[in-house]
Amino acid sequence: MASIAQNAEDLRLRLEAACPKGGSPVSIIAVTKYATLDQMRAVIACGFTCLGESRIQDLEEKKRIFPDPNLEWHFIGRLQSNKVKKAVMLCDVIQSVDRLSLLDEINQAAEKLNKKIKIFLQVRFHHSETQGGFEPENLNHHLDKVVSFQFVEVVGIMTIGPHTSSADSIRNCFQQANQLFNDLRDDNRSIRYLCMGMSGDFEIAVAEGANMIRIGSLLLQEE
Ligand SMILES: *Cc1c(COP(=O)(O)O)cnc(C)c1O
Repeated sequence: MASIAQNAEDLRLRLEAACPKGGSPVSIIAVTKYATLDQMRAVIACGFTCLGESRIQDLEEKKRIFPDPNLEWHFIGRLQSNKVKKAVMLCDVIQSVDRLSLLDEINQAAEKLNKKIKIFLQVRFHHSETQGGFEPENLNHHLDKVVSFQFVEVVGIMTIGPHTSSADSIRNCFQQANQLFNDLRDDNRSIRYLCMGMSGDFEIAVAEGANMIRIGSLLLQEE
């Protein structure tokens, strides 16, 4: 039976092989949204410190059970307006900021809590009925506004690859994301992470410039 420790080792080897030579190191967000508490323990014991959750209630509960201050809690799910205050209070990073109105709400909540919150702009490079995200053109258009919020630090771009078996389509989206990332980073020093790639496509993502990936099922799988 594959253990989480073995999965983690396999992941590190595959990541190393997929990374461009001489590239910058790639951070791994261990996505624990479907993990049991035992699996969470195993993930943390493997040395993962950045954890990704997609529901605020789950994040709140797990953070209470694992109060280690070295852990960094990344929110990666769709954030509803009525959960913004809690999200700002509980999260170290909100990765899934997919609309301007949400950014505004996060900034207001952060101001009230007097906390500067790190966020990623979620951008969408393909048509999707279910996925949120800024359209790249739209983001460029609003960029001055986006980076002007005082209690928000925009640290990166997050994107989810298209749900397809076509490696070319996935690669194409990741290339566009990398292009946008480089353009934005030239003007905004706070933007330093390109977070893309999940269990099924992280190798393409790092080849195309990701310096942060989000891995769930690959870590947790048991054979
Ligand atoms: C669930 C999820 C992941 C992890 O996906 P896996 O395919 O299980 O690695 C990554 N990013 C987001 C936004 C997710 O919702």
